[in-house]
Amino acid sequence: MRNKEVHIAINVWVNLCRFLLAGLFIFSGFVKAVDPLGTHYKIQDYLTAFGMDGLFPSYAPLLFSIVLSALEFSIGVLLFFGVRKKTSTTLSLLLMIVMTPLTLYLALKNPVSDCGCFGDAWVLTNWQTFWKNVVLLIAVISVFVGKRHIIRFVSAKTEWLVSLYTIFFVLFLSLYCLNRLPVLDFRPYRIGENIAEGMTIPEGAKPSVFENTFILEKNGVRKEFTLDNYPDSTWKFIDSHSVLKEKGYEPAIHDFSMMDRDTGEDITDQVLTNKGYTFFLVAHRIEEADDSNIDLINEIYDYCVEHGYGFYCLTSSSEDSEIDQWRDKTGAEYPFCLMDDITLKTMIRSNPGLMLIKNATILNKWSDNDLPDEYELTDKLENLELGKQKVKSDVYTIEQVILWFVLPLLFVLGLDILVVKRNERKRKNKDQKLINPLIKTKMRKNIVAGNWKMNKTLQEGITLAKDLNEALAGEKQNCDVVICTPFIHLASVTPLVDAAKIGVGAENCADKESGAYTGEVSASMVASTGAKYVILGHSERRAYYGETAATLKEKVKLVLANGLTPIFCIGEVLEEREANKQNEIVYSQLAGSLYDLSAEDFAKIVLAYEPVWAIGTGKTASAAQAQEIHAYIRSTIVDKYGKEIADNISILYGGSCKASNAKELFANPDVDGGLIGGAALNVADFKGIIDAFNA
Ligand code: PEP
Repeated sequence: MRNKEVHIAINVWVNLCRFLLAGLFIFSGFVKAVDPLGTHYKIQDYLTAFGMDGLFPSYAPLLFSIVLSALEFSIGVLLFFGVRKKTSTTLSLLLMIVMTPLTLYLALKNPVSDCGCFGDAWVLTNWQTFWKNVVLLIAVISVFVGKRHIIRFVSAKTEWLVSLYTIFFVLFLSLYCLNRLPVLDFRPYRIGENIAEGMTIPEGAKPSVFENTFILEKNGVRKEFTLDNYPDSTWKFIDSHSVLKEKGYEPAIHDFSMMDRDTGEDITDQVLTNKGYTFFLVAHRIEEADDSNIDLINEIYDYCVEHGYGFYCLTSSSEDSEIDQWRDKTGAEYPFCLMDDITLKTMIRSNPGLMLIKNATILNKWSDNDLPDEYELTDKLENLELGKQKVKSDVYTIEQVILWFVLPLLFVLGLDILVVKRNERKRKNKDQKLINPLIKTKMRKNIVAGNWKMNKTLQEGITLAKDLNEALAGEKQNCDVVICTPFIHLASVTPLVDAAKIGVGAENCADKESGAYTGEVSASMVASTGAKYVILGHSERRAYYGETAATLKEKVKLVLANGLTPIFCIGEVLEEREANKQNEIVYSQLAGSLYDLSAEDFAKIVLAYEPVWAIGTGKTASAAQAQEIHAYIRSTIVDKYGKEIADNISILYGGSCKASNAKELFANPDVDGGLIGGAALNVADFKGIIDAFNA
């Protein structure tokens, strides 16, 4: 594949990975933010499984849940917009470096049955999660390594607005859902679900087999029982566990069982077959429940008594003292039923929370901070909106998210395109005109530059320079003329020539600024002689002195930093031309040393295409060959820096250029002059080439 195609393929791959990651991180962060308590419970499960639950303060899992959702969501949005690339790719890499081995451990050891990476919205097995993470790790490494290929959608001027608004939105969403209830409910106890139907197993389906173990106490002695040897009522119920023995059809709701705390009776059927209204005060651990709204809860209970509605407090706290303490503290008169802890946490994400059912169908749910009060409970439920099934649907939630998140960001995007990018474009155009006055006229310079190589003593060089100066004096010149001489000539030759007619340059310079580099000559030393140009990357230096793309990159920077113009040489060797690889080669030479430059710096460069097989060999590239590759070089500059810069870069041809072929070569639209070796050592020959522009 040619270099340009490789470049396009890398761009496509990195951006595909970036969108995959963005989508998954946004989804994962969003579903966690919607249900912060769910993620909190999951983190608690992890801590318990790893025996670390006592190590952190009780608020830590919830805090971590909120931070994790905000982190994932923000990384996703930043990746989507292609902003803050370093931060977003580094954070996603760190996240995946931690998550991938962790999920491998989970898959192998199974300490928690589902990882919870997408909350309850999309439950994966531990092995599915691990393989998903392997794919994501590959994508993350790709975007981390290729971050510069990520195409950005908003300018640097507005990226702060996108980042800040995203963080604000996701934190607000988490806190809102924590304070109220999840705005999207992915669990089997959603509003509108019928609990009895959710528990039904279709005819013929084999149910999962669970073994229930009950812990009961008598005379201070605790013992475990199963349903087969369940003892008489002199034993007091303490706790129960349910272990899956054989997986079969699993109804959405399989663990809803209400045991009257005082009588020990299972009243599930009685409650679910009741055609009237029933309130459940769900307090999975009553000792941890928030008691700040107890008056309101008691009022709701009184209201139920008055209208003949059921009211039960469902809890998994089985200790008498815990329930009694609640009763003492709150004056609760309502009955208590015992239920599985996980079921209660699944039913409602608030402790306590309130659920209203009728005929086993869930009509409404309230968090502790949002309980209905006397102003709402003004009549029988039959006559109130409250007694009907709440209509807020997922569509409504998605509309709200679009309204409060997507639309503001689209607005920012629009503003960015309309105002910021337009201003930036204007400023860039203005800057470019200042950088290179030629851009104003859309004309690039024609240049004929001589490369003396390692020829001429100082005296001979002085004579050659003087003669050339004289030959050009009084002549009308249609191109810039440059002579690049050995270092020792520079200081003597520069003052001898008319700077308005002839520019002087070096043939090389050091890749270091200054210091202990014996035998080297720095760019600043070259500049101090009054010279204006430096040839860099000549094929002889690449071949005989091992100059690499990396050293040349340094040299280019130093040359530019010292106010000099690099004449940067590129070109292929014969075998590469014969293998038709010339475009690939010149592209990699350009990309390897120049394409990291800013547009402003790149606009200062002069390029010289010199096929190595034509240098000093007498073989010249044909005019058509020269035009073809010069046009290709210019097209890569268009891709990298845009048409305006490409149109204004001079690209010289070098390689056995003589007065006899210069005219034909220079007549090509993309050939802007020549870099001349042998013919530059003789005034007449050199002038003959310069005159090619006069004809
Ligand atoms: C050169 O060395 O840059 C060059 C083009 O040499 P010649 O003109 O001698 O081929």
